Amino acid sequence: MAERVRKPEWLKINIGANERYTETKRIVENHCLHTICSSGRCPNMGECWGKGTATFMIGGDICTRSCKFCNTQTGRPLPLDPNEPAHVAESISLMKLSHAVVTSVDRDDLPDLGASHWARTITEIKRVNPATTIEVLIPDFQGRLELVDQVINARPEIISHNMETVRRISPLVRSAAHYDTSLKVIKRIADSGTVAKSGIMAGLGETPAEVEELMDDLLAAGCKILTIGQYLQPTHRHYPVAEYVTPEQFAEYKRIGLEKGFEQVESAPLVRSSYHAEKHIRR
Ligand code: SF4
Ligand code: SF4
Repeated sequence: MAERVRKPEWLKINIGANERYTETKRIVENHCLHTICSSGRCPNMGECWGKGTATFMIGGDICTRSCKFCNTQTGRPLPLDPNEPAHVAESISLMKLSHAVVTSVDRDDLPDLGASHWARTITEIKRVNPATTIEVLIPDFQGRLELVDQVINARPEIISHNMETVRRISPLVRSAAHYDTSLKVIKRIADSGTVAKSGIMAGLGETPAEVEELMDDLLAAGCKILTIGQYLQPTHRHYPVAEYVTPEQFAEYKRIGLEKGFEQVESAPLVRSSYHAEKHIRR
């Protein structure tokens, strides 16, 4: 059996819960909502929920895909909840969020792959919270650009689509998404004038040279914001961690990314796509 890589000190976190954490949890549960924070077992929950922020996951909590790094349930999803857009909008209002982050499971079972539900959710959030800026982390919609356009036309401030990893490792860990399709989606977002963002996990076996190649590909597509964080194996059944990348290497990725031309790069072991997302908005 392969030897497991020991988790280093810099990844040990305090999951202390405060009053705001309990309030965030209550709002999420009372509105029957899902978050990627809990389904993804995010290590930052103590901090984010303790500050009253969370990333909502729409389209239910069952994904039609089964990526090897992801802890979201896989299978046949339930029908869409028509009240979900209103519930998300109301929760954002109760949480008094100035910047809201929304993602979704993949809904390859639906004729429009969930695009119109996405558009309805963004529109409803804007109607109820006109001062709140919105960041959405979208699936690849199988590369169907007319569906990506439905999200763009709902006018969120930032649209993110994660590359997840470098070109060579992409087919080993992503169940249906393709590297070049993801780049095509990011290019469409950037070409529309919307701020395009992407994120990857480090520690899956990629080399620094491959990360640089990915940065070049993203910049050529028009991506402006990049996040890089350590991959953490959710359970022993998931893809193994190849390496715990050092904080120094993460800092080096940030330096290289900014030098190459990204407007913002968040690169550190505990960075996630939605970590400190409000920093990416220019007010
Ligand atoms: Fe949730 Fe993102 Fe914070 Fe993790 S980093 S707890 S996913 S908002
Ligand atoms: Fe997870 Fe992959 Fe589904 Fe995204 S598409 S929620 S990464 S299984």
